[in-house]
Formats: sequence, C-alpha cells, structure tokens
Amino acid sequence: MIGVLDIGGTNVRAGLVSEGGELVLSRSRLLPPEADARRFLEFICSFLGSLAAKSDEELTAIGAGSCGVIREGSILYSPNTSWKSLALAEALKARFQVPTTVVNDADSFAMGVFNCEFPGKYSALCALTLGSGLGGSLISRQGLVRGVSGVSPEIGHIKVRQGGVSCSCGGSGCLEAYVSKRALMSSYRRYGGDKDALSPYDVYQAFKRGDKAAEKAFATMGRFLGTGMATIFNLYAPPVFVLGGGISRAAKAFLPSARQALAKGVVKGLGPRPRVVVSRMRSRASLLGAALLARDSLESVLK
Ligand SMILES: [Zn+2]
Repeated sequence: MIGVLDIGGTNVRAGLVSEGGELVLSRSRLLPPEADARRFLEFICSFLGSLAAKSDEELTAIGAGSCGVIREGSILYSPNTSWKSLALAEALKARFQVPTTVVNDADSFAMGVFNCEFPGKYSALCALTLGSGLGGSLISRQGLVRGVSGVSPEIGHIKVRQGGVSCSCGGSGCLEAYVSKRALMSSYRRYGGDKDALSPYDVYQAFKRGDKAAEKAFATMGRFLGTGMATIFNLYAPPVFVLGGGISRAAKAFLPSARQALAKGVVKGLGPRPRVVVSRMRSRASLLGAALLARDSLESVLK
C-alpha cells in the first residue's frame, strides 16, 4: 500500500493507493490555521497515520505532492506559510520508516492526468493547477520535463506584464499574480463586485447569476491564462493543456477568453492548435500521480 498526500495552500488530501494502482481510500482536511512547521508536520503525519491504520496492509512507500518550491524532498518556500526549507520527506520517512518522495503538486497532478486520466492519449501535456497559486508542469512519454539544473519549471512565474502586479515570489507581473485566488478576488472587487464575496466559489455563483463584475473578473483572468498558455505553447508545443485545482471548476466563466488569448498568441507552424480541457479526476489524479512517482523511485532504489 502506498500512502499519498496532496498538500495545498489551505487543505490537505491524504489517501492510500493499492499495489494495483487503485485509490482505495482518501480524506480531505483543512490545514490548521497559522500552524508553524512543527505543528504542520505533526498534522500531516497523524493524518496519514490515521488512514494507514485503517488498512490491513503495511505502507511500502509514501508519495506526496505539495504546493511551493520543492527541492530534494524539502519545501524550500511555500505560499501562505513562512516555512523555509521544511524537510517534509525526511520527517515522513522518520515517522513511517518507508521510502518517501515529495514533489511539487503540479508535478503529481501532471503525472496522474497523463498516466491515469488520459493514458496513451497524448504524446505530452501541460498541466496547470488553478488555486491559491498557479502551479504548472510539463510531461511527455519521457517523463516530467525538468530544467537543466534538474528542478521543475516555474510556470506560475513566467512574466505576462512588465512591471505588473507584485507576486508571492517577490517579483512582479508573473502569471500567478493574474491567475490565482487572490488575483480573481482583487479584480472582482476592482470591477465593483459584491464586497461580501469571500472566495472564487462566491464569484462563480455571482457569474452564474449574470453579475457583470464577476464576468469581467473571470474574463480578465482568462485572458492572462491564455497569454501564459501561448508562451508555454511557443516554447514546448504541448498538444493539450489540462486544468485542475479549485478554480478550474469555474472553467465555463474563463475558458472562452483564455482560448481566445491562446489562439491569438501562438506562433503558426509549431503544431496544431492546442486543446484546453478540464480534468475530471482532479485531486484523484494528484494522489494517483504521487503514488506513481513513489513507485518509480522505489523501483529505482531496488534496481
Ligand atoms: Zn512570481
């Protein structure tokens, strides 16, 4: 049995994946508010431990996808927290005594949609997770695409506007500064939207009621998303973009403007115009992807 985790900015989903690759159990919990690193690690370990206790089979490995910049099993930096260099893989390994793999959550999502949601359907794809931040990952039949230094590309921080809105990375004008929960909420307010709206869910409900500010906020977000996707396409030419994360549930509200900006921004001759689809598996894809990555690294250790 492989223990799996999908750690977001506000909640965590944990699960158990069988040797046959089936998600047999999964539960979601809110992260304790303002938890420091120690409390966060305790929370993660006891959450996964409580699921593992429900199974007759022993854990053989752990795979986790987490938001933030991940290097060698540590969360170097993560949005919504003040952690620096949090050794998550080490902590899980010490608690459960099994090999542990920790990757960026966009990577685990990409792994899941590429292998489990669309097995064999595409030669490559770009997965984008729309939530507290914007995660992105590129994957092909050769595996996850890495930069020369071995780290995942930081798709959320490609620039879409010179000197634009400040970003969680310390820079400005990044794609994430225009395509994220914070970006959507602030543009909704700027367009005169309902001040009581607290989340993208509320803005989407307003959109469905025909609220003009919600329409404008989603259209603006969509345009930036499409511009970002065009840049990615011009670099890597993935035949499809797969969207996940909480805000992807509101795709109806922003996909038309995203597709329009994408079509406008792609360079002709690179390949057929890419498709944009919304994942139906969502968090299941992330958990199955984390299990596949854990199994791959377990096999490479045993070889
Ligand atoms: Zn940034």
